[in-house]
Amino acid sequence: MTTTAVQFEEGVEPAGLTDRQALALLHRMLWSEGFDDRIAGHITARQSDGSLLCTPYGLRWDEVRASDIIRIDRDGRILEGRWPVTTAITLHLVVHKMRSDAVVAVHHHPEWATVWAATRKVPPIYDQLSAFVEDDLVIYDDYSGGVNEWDLAEANVKSMGGSGQALLANHGVLVVATSIAEAHLRCVSLEHRAKLAWRVESLGGGIPLRSEVAAKLARTMRDKGGWPQFFASMARAEMRRDPSVLD
Ligand SMILES: [Zn+2]
Repeated sequence: MTTTAVQFEEGVEPAGLTDRQALALLHRMLWSEGFDDRIAGHITARQSDGSLLCTPYGLRWDEVRASDIIRIDRDGRILEGRWPVTTAITLHLVVHKMRSDAVVAVHHHPEWATVWAATRKVPPIYDQLSAFVEDDLVIYDDYSGGVNEWDLAEANVKSMGGSGQALLANHGVLVVATSIAEAHLRCVSLEHRAKLAWRVESLGGGIPLRSEVAAKLARTMRDKGGWPQFFASMARAEMRRDPSVLD
């Protein structure tokens, strides 16, 4: 797959979003889910010509509109847009170079997953939403100060193997997905899992979901292609809150 368009079943709104609109919505929706570390964080989405739609540098994710999304080439040079590109784009360039399955890549420092990244422990799966990602949650435990340099970014991506989600120790998260809707679900599931597990562990711990149950839930979500109805519902809420997100 080389395009990022969100595929909805017939009758599911919002229909006909452009990739830029869907990506602007993804920024806003993830901000509401805890991906809210000021102007940090970036998302890239591969286009059919190989170029990448990208987060404009200097904006919080809750203010991004479709017309703010920039387009860059595979060396990080700006092709379209009025905002600069982050110097940390190297991580995304490496992801898209090394992972043919990476249509969308998300990096940020969400509050609860970053707590677990600091402990270098994987949060257990305690409920349904936490189980909706099929891949193992990988920990990259060698933080050397950012991801701007190619070899540091490459080490981060290599540590993931074929997984779609990683905790980057003392830093944040990296999520890889085959579509915008799947990226949304993966990010929401990961941050929810981290938050719930922190709460359970603060009471002394609980009983994690049985692994076969978690695996079955994850397979169901995979077969739905990232649960586009969930994306659509949260997108409608965001569009009601601020219709200018689509401008
Ligand atoms: Zn970062």
